[in-house]
Amino acid sequence: MIRAFFVEIVFPFLVFCLVLSIAKSFLRGLGAAFKPGPRPAAPANPPTVQSGGELKKDPVCGTYVSTSTSLSRMVNGQAVYFCSDECRRKFTG
Ligand SMILES: [Zn+2]
Repeated sequence: MIRAFFVEIVFPFLVFCLVLSIAKSFLRGLGAAFKPGPRPAAPANPPTVQSGGELKKDPVCGTYVSTSTSLSRMVNGQAVYFCSDECRRKFTG
């Protein structure tokens, strides 16, 4: 009778307490591991969109190029954009 009491109630209770304490210490360990961790660093400057900027037509080959990435040359006070140095040289002669 007493043996059955121990096996059916006390032992499961002790196991439950043991598992609970292990789980608690495990979670605390996880918390300690994660709390001081560096937060994902946000970039100081938001990345500029590569395709940003206006699209301008390359007068030599007719390709539309982005003003932010293409080669440019001032012609009569206006910026002319080229897809490549080759086009720029052809345009300027
Ligand atoms: Zn071109």
